[in-house]
Amino acid sequence: MLNNYQHTTAERMMRYAVIDTTANPDSDTQPSSKKQLDLSRLLVSELKAMGIDVELDEYGYVYATIKGNSKKKVPVLCFCSHVDTAPDCSGANVKPILHKKWNGEDIVLPDDKNVVISSKKHPYLLEKIGDDIITASGFTLLGADDKAGISIIMDFAQYLLNRTDIIHGDIRILFTPDEEIGRGVNKVDMKKLNADFGYTLDGGECGTLEGENFSADSCTVTFNGISAHPGYAKGKMVNAQKVLAHFITLLPNEMSPENTEAYEGFVHPVSISGGLEAATVTFILRDFVTSKLSEQKQLLNNLAEQTIKQFPGAGFTISSKEQYRNMDEVLQKHPEVMDNACEAFKRSGINCVRKNIRGGTDGARLSFMGMPCPNIFTGEMGIHSKEEYVSVQDMNKAVEVLVNLVQVWEQRA
Ligand SMILES: [Zn+2]
Repeated sequence: MLNNYQHTTAERMMRYAVIDTTANPDSDTQPSSKKQLDLSRLLVSELKAMGIDVELDEYGYVYATIKGNSKKKVPVLCFCSHVDTAPDCSGANVKPILHKKWNGEDIVLPDDKNVVISSKKHPYLLEKIGDDIITASGFTLLGADDKAGISIIMDFAQYLLNRTDIIHGDIRILFTPDEEIGRGVNKVDMKKLNADFGYTLDGGECGTLEGENFSADSCTVTFNGISAHPGYAKGKMVNAQKVLAHFITLLPNEMSPENTEAYEGFVHPVSISGGLEAATVTFILRDFVTSKLSEQKQLLNNLAEQTIKQFPGAGFTISSKEQYRNMDEVLQKHPEVMDNACEAFKRSGINCVRKNIRGGTDGARLSFMGMPCPNIFTGEMGIHSKEEYVSVQDMNKAVEVLVNLVQVWEQRA
């Protein structure tokens, strides 16, 4: 617990949640929706009011600096979260509700009584009885992903500015747009950011620290057939669509998303298009071990070869493209990034649970852009849905972790 400190996370989460910041995947601009700037501008003015140097750039990035007060040369840390919310669920007219000292009963949301947040569906809630829980009202998501992260970083900044006795190095704050549509770091100016190590605040359960994510490629297989007039096609036509359909049936079941978990990778067809002469299937390939991606591609190649043997005259081409990589490859070279975080968790009285992400993160991309950047919990749960919730106590615990984290880095410098 931070002594006598009145946290502002709940009040901030309630205020930031009502600002519609839904990202727009159909737009080419950055930020993809102008309304994200409503929150970014508010954050700039709040940081300024704290006396923090801050700038909003033309792409919607907020860069801020809390000056260090250590006499040592301490690595510059960056704390990062995203202002946008996922387009999969409405983020307009969000009405956040604070359920003080939640008693464990099902939370029936008032605007749509069919939306019920229960510990049966969300077992993590069983650990949160007695906490203050924030939810939406039934029509929308809450946007704790990632306004919980923003509230935590803002509260942390305020705390640090009040406590000049806490010794730390320079700290940068980065708020990004468009994380939910995969463009969160497209236009980040790493030179301007000028940080050695970073942490995103965008994780779930209290105590979790994520330093591993999938490595990812896309892979496209195109089958070529032979066209002929269907009335006179006997012995001539080879229908590429049928070749492709056969190929799909050969995919190993145990390597599909619906049959894998934890550290298991998968091969997943995401779209099919085509006609008689040519038919194409696009896959996403995923594994925590990057070299396994080429094994997955080899497997698809072998299955395609096996397939065309059944259809004389058919052919195929295969190609793949890198998407993103497991940040663990970068973090392995800088073990102090994870170790210092774990130490900060410990000093905050919580166990550090290292978890992997079965997807990509902005932190992974930042890691490969030169700033190793694992992900710290915020308490955001049930994300991208009307059942999204966050515990205020979890957010406050994350603030405490950050306060300890900057001190661990300073002491170990
Ligand atoms: Zn997020």
